Amino acid sequence: HSGQTGHISITGVSKYFGRHKALDNVSLELEPGSVTVILGPSGSGKSTLLRAINHLERVDEGFIQIDGDYIGYRQAGDKLYELKEKEILRQRVNVGYVFQNFNLFPHLTVLENLIEAPIAHKQLNRKAAIEQAYQLLDVVGLRNKADAWSRHLSGGQQQRIAIARALALRPRVMLFDEPTSALDPELVGEVLDVIKKLARSGTTLVVVTHEIGFAREVADNVVFMVDGKIVEQGSSDEVLNHPQHSRTRQFLSKVL
Ligand code: ADP
Ligand code: MG
Repeated sequence: HSGQTGHISITGVSKYFGRHKALDNVSLELEPGSVTVILGPSGSGKSTLLRAINHLERVDEGFIQIDGDYIGYRQAGDKLYELKEKEILRQRVNVGYVFQNFNLFPHLTVLENLIEAPIAHKQLNRKAAIEQAYQLLDVVGLRNKADAWSRHLSGGQQQRIAIARALALRPRVMLFDEPTSALDPELVGEVLDVIKKLARSGTTLVVVTHEIGFAREVADNVVFMVDGKIVEQGSSDEVLNHPQHSRTRQFLSKVL
């Protein structure tokens, strides 16, 4: 538990799609090792914010830093210059990303899914990557599935492998965008259990989810977004038990 890296700083970020403002002056400070849950109605900008943290969306105003590095940019004097594609890809190694639809490589085994990225990024040789893959399979409780075809796993198992795959590049921060929304209800718990385990490991986590029980149990910070704006943020107790904003209260009364 180093707790040293994984500080995310979001400063005055706005993002337009045409004339639609999907992010409106969002600022957020996330401490190393903290767990943040982002809540908000559909279309409020949650996915756009996560994508911006990884420079999958280029923001129009403001900037995002991880451990002081500008995401997608480098600083020279008082100017920011966008990084080249290759440099952006290198920077993304610091950010693990888990989507709703896990997108494993279906034609690869579980083990092959877990060793591909660290070898491709020249982080590990094949032997070390395989060793690490088994460690990651222990983390997600699927060591016995190493040689299975990923398409033969249940949705919950595939999502656990997707989490392991994201961890294989040893990211400083992990982003989860509705990681359980595509799952049958009986499979949600096993995926949340893996994320809870990570929460205790010191990796900075940002989780977009409607699982309020998970937020209550695990989140250090809860952020509530409406129309691209953060309308409320605080501890999980503050936001979930004593919401100040009418939109937060309305939202919570619907999902609880
Ligand atoms: P959420 O994840 O909270 O449901 P999103 O971040 O996906 O919301 O979307 C925020 C807003 O931006 C929505 O109005 C959505 O339609 C719009 N939007 C998202 N991505 C695009 C895109 N690539 N092109 C145009 N509009 C987009
Ligand atoms: Mg979304």
